[in-house]
Amino acid sequence: MIIIMEKGATDENIQKVCARLEENGFQIRVNKGELLTVIDALGDKSSLSEDRLLSLEGVKEVKHIREPFRLASRDRKEDDTIITFPNGVTIGGNKTIVTIAGPCSVENIDGLMEVAHAVKEAGCEFLRGGAFKPRTSPYAFQGYGEEALKLLKQAGDETGLLTVTEVMETQDIELVSQYADVLQVGARNAQNFKLLKALGKCKKPVILKRGLSSTIAEFLLAAEHILYNGNPNVILCERGIRSFDSHYTRNVADIASIPVIKKLSHLPVIIDPSHATGQRYLVEPVAKAGIVAGADGIMMEVHHNPEIALSDGNQSLSIPMFKDVMTRINNLKNRITYNKQTFCMDIN
Ligand code: PEP
Ligand code: MN
Repeated sequence: MIIIMEKGATDENIQKVCARLEENGFQIRVNKGELLTVIDALGDKSSLSEDRLLSLEGVKEVKHIREPFRLASRDRKEDDTIITFPNGVTIGGNKTIVTIAGPCSVENIDGLMEVAHAVKEAGCEFLRGGAFKPRTSPYAFQGYGEEALKLLKQAGDETGLLTVTEVMETQDIELVSQYADVLQVGARNAQNFKLLKALGKCKKPVILKRGLSSTIAEFLLAAEHILYNGNPNVILCERGIRSFDSHYTRNVADIASIPVIKKLSHLPVIIDPSHATGQRYLVEPVAKAGIVAGADGIMMEVHHNPEIALSDGNQSLSIPMFKDVMTRINNLKNRITYNKQTFCMDIN
C-alpha cells in the first residue's frame, strides 16, 4: 500500500508511521517530494489496518495497489522499466524491438559461430544458446553444461553480441552469471520459487518465461518474486501456453497477453514464437503478430543445420530462412510506432 502524508507532516510524524509499518513486518521506501511525502509499504496488509494507519498523526490517505503483483504493477510504477546493457542496448518501454536469436542448445563452436555471425549480420542484439537444458525426458539431450557456457561466451565476445542462456538451479546462478549477460528461467521452472527468489539476489537481468499453463496473474506473480527479492531487471517472455490441441502447434501463442501485460505492468515483454508454435513456418507469423501487439522484443531459435539439431530442430530456422525472416521483420520494425493508448503498434 501507499501512505500519503499531509502537506505539513513533520519528520517525527513520518518516522512514527515508518516505525509502525516496520514493527508490522512491512518493507518500506520513503519518497520525500517537495510538497508531499509518500511511503511505499510492502507486506501483509492484514497485520495493520487502514484505520490504525489513518489514526496516526500526519497521515492523509492510504492507497491500496489493486493488483496482487505489487512491484510489477503499473499502479506502483507508471514509467516503463528500461534495462540498459553496458554496450548501450536497451530493452523495454517499446523504444526499440530487440531480437534474441540462436540455437536451442549450444552444440559445437563451428555451428554456433556460423549462427552467431548470421545473428549479428541480421542486426540482432542477443545470441541465445542453452547449456543446461530442461528436458521433459531424461533420455533427451541435457545440454553440455559449463563447456557450452564457455562456447557461448566465446561467440558473444567474437561477435559483440550479448548472450542469453537458461539457469535451472539456484546453485548454478553464480556459474552462469560468470558467462552470460542475461539469465533465462524456462517455462518448466517458472514457478520454482526458490530459484526465483535466488535470482532476485543476483545482479544480472532475467528473462522469465511464462509457465506451461500459467495464467497471466501467475506469470506476473512469478516475476514479483524476483522483484521483491531485489532484482528490478525482469523481462517477461510469452512462449505460448498448453491447450488441448498440440497436433499442429506445440503450444498456443497467447498474443493477447502482450497488450494485457503492457497495460498491467511496466516490465518489458518479449515473445518467443519458436516455443509458442513448435513449427519453423509459424515462427515468422507469430513473431510479427507479437511485435505488432506491442512486444519489446522477440526470441527465435536458429540452427546451422536444423535436421541434425540435438533439441528443437522442428522449430529452428535454418540460417538462410532466418536471414529472410529478419529482412522482413526489420522492414516491419521500420514501419511501426508504439501507441500508449492502444497498448500496441500503429502501422505507419
Ligand atoms: C528454450 O528456450 O530452449 C526453452 C526450453 O524454452 P521453454 O522454457 O519456453 O520451453
Ligand atoms: Mn528450445
